[in-house]
Amino acid sequence: MLPEVFQQPPPVLGNQYLEDRVLRSYLNRVIPPDVLRSVEPSLEEMGDLAGGELYRLQLADHANEPVLTQWDAWGERADRIELTPLWRRAERVAAEHGVVAAAYEAAHGRFSRPYQFALAYLFHPSTDVYTCPLAMTDGAARTLLESRNAELIERAVGRLTTRDPARFWTSGQWMTESTGGSDVGLAQTVARNEGGAWRLYGRKWFTSAVTSQMALVLARPEGNPPGAQGLALFYVEPRDEAGGLRGIRVLRLKDKLGTRKVPTAELMLEGAPARPVQGASGGVKAIVPMLHLTRAWNSIAAAAVMRRGLALARDYARKRFAFGDVLAHKPLHVDTLAALQTEAEGVFHLSFYLAQLIGRAETEGLPECDADLLRLLTSVAKLVTAKQAVAAASETLEAFGGAGYVEDTGLPVLLRDAQVLPIWEGTTNVLSLDALRALEKGEAWKALEEKARGCIRSARDSRLGTAGRAAESALEHAHAWFEENRRAAPRLEAGARRFALTLGRTLELALLVEHAQWSLDHERDGRARAAALRFAQSGVDSIADVDLDDARALAAGEPLEQE
Ligand SMILES: Cc1cc2nc3c(=O)[nH]c(=O)nc-3n(C[C@H](O)[C@H](O)[C@H](O)COP(=O)(O)OP(=O)(O)OC[C@H]3O[C@@H](n4cnc5c(N)ncnc54)[C@H](O)[C@@H]3O)c2cc1C
Repeated sequence: MLPEVFQQPPPVLGNQYLEDRVLRSYLNRVIPPDVLRSVEPSLEEMGDLAGGELYRLQLADHANEPVLTQWDAWGERADRIELTPLWRRAERVAAEHGVVAAAYEAAHGRFSRPYQFALAYLFHPSTDVYTCPLAMTDGAARTLLESRNAELIERAVGRLTTRDPARFWTSGQWMTESTGGSDVGLAQTVARNEGGAWRLYGRKWFTSAVTSQMALVLARPEGNPPGAQGLALFYVEPRDEAGGLRGIRVLRLKDKLGTRKVPTAELMLEGAPARPVQGASGGVKAIVPMLHLTRAWNSIAAAAVMRRGLALARDYARKRFAFGDVLAHKPLHVDTLAALQTEAEGVFHLSFYLAQLIGRAETEGLPECDADLLRLLTSVAKLVTAKQAVAAASETLEAFGGAGYVEDTGLPVLLRDAQVLPIWEGTTNVLSLDALRALEKGEAWKALEEKARGCIRSARDSRLGTAGRAAESALEHAHAWFEENRRAAPRLEAGARRFALTLGRTLELALLVEHAQWSLDHERDGRARAAALRFAQSGVDSIADVDLDDARALAAGEPLEQE
């Protein structure tokens, strides 16, 4: 007789809304009860899809990728792109459940944004980054609305924000060229006015979700000066009624580490018809609403991926035996999962605080100091949460041992897809420098300090008070460092990342303290406090005085002469 072979039960997911203590507790605190009652059924439905149908489809779809057919059988240029079954289903679910639309219907005033982002947060981890086209769609709708270009608003915004899958459009953003994604001012794509009609010529190096029905594109009208100020923003519908590309060739789809369901193409624009969104210059300024929203979606995606990793790892820990007991009873494994939960809660609260600010800005308008804070936090939240998500995704895979490294468990994709979060929509360094600029003028410092201090002061629990003081002293340290170095350009730039990460983690801690006090008062639950205390212990201040000559020698691998 053969020996019995052990069969490991896989991790399973339940309803991703009902099982999410942090999301539900947050919504209870922030959203008025009548609004919550009206939106909760749709969140529950999305939670069911995310833990059920979509998750099953995601596992079954794991080996599929978009396919580009450049030529048909008879030698005709085709450039057809077939999406995978998961993405085709995701498009329909996203439209029907209003994952973009909910923000524009604005049925719940300033709470519409946190609600919409809650839908996106539930949707994201089961759809292999279908949130990439959704983020750009949201960004395109806002950009067109703010452009006041009545013709383009009339043509596209209704489609970008509809719940009808038959009418629903998504949008791309074509900015990056081989000359640079961070420094878009180097872009070489030219816009020519040919008898009153604009056409674009050049090569776009990264164009994600290239199957979208429209795109917002940066190009330089002929005769404009070099640099960012010479770029204009154009609206392009890449395909004609029959589905053929108009003055565009798909050179290839990128062979990427992750986001492999996202068709990211290199495109050659060979006279693509285009319409100016807001005149023949000022393109970088015109596309700012797109950048702000896609960065906010990035932060929400970071929170979502961390939550998914935990949901799977927690379930697995209850089922996986080692050394005589399940992992869930092993103190060191428990400690590892607790650290993941702590970081995830910090990321969650920062991302959703950003959503609240956006919701207020879009519906009521913000006082100037809060508008400055929103500008600062868009960069800070994106950069800090993305870094936390990558670290957490790596730890999540390790929590499964070898299974975490095996493709058809559906786990490696968590890490591969997390790794894009710090790169696209502005890298960590580029956004750190942007955070410095946001603090140089306006009242962002004042607003940040007021917000953080307000959160900290709300703590009546003595241990939360201690955690709050750690946040306060990190913020004071950051402010002193900024004042000391603001006129010392190389030193300021060199420390920008440590500085921005400190701001991000400090605000996460302050928000954790605020929520923990509320949770103690209203839910009699100590878990949020435990997260806040642990977050404070793990440290929020990474500012350091670094010798610039040492750094130069280390970076360049060159000798450092000693006296
Ligand atoms: C999967 C994927 C999909 C994408 N989809 C799109 C898309 O749809 N549309 C689009 O327009 N773009 C897209 N991009 C491009 C993306 O936005 C760029 O890759 C990104 O902005 C970085 O630009 P780059 O690749 O040219 O890197 P570079 O700008 O060359 O940066 C290289 C490194 O230098 C650092 N760096 C740059 N400037 C400074 C500085 N002043 N100080 C310190 N460090 C600095 C950066 O942080 C980075 O680490 C996509 C990228 C990926 C990976």
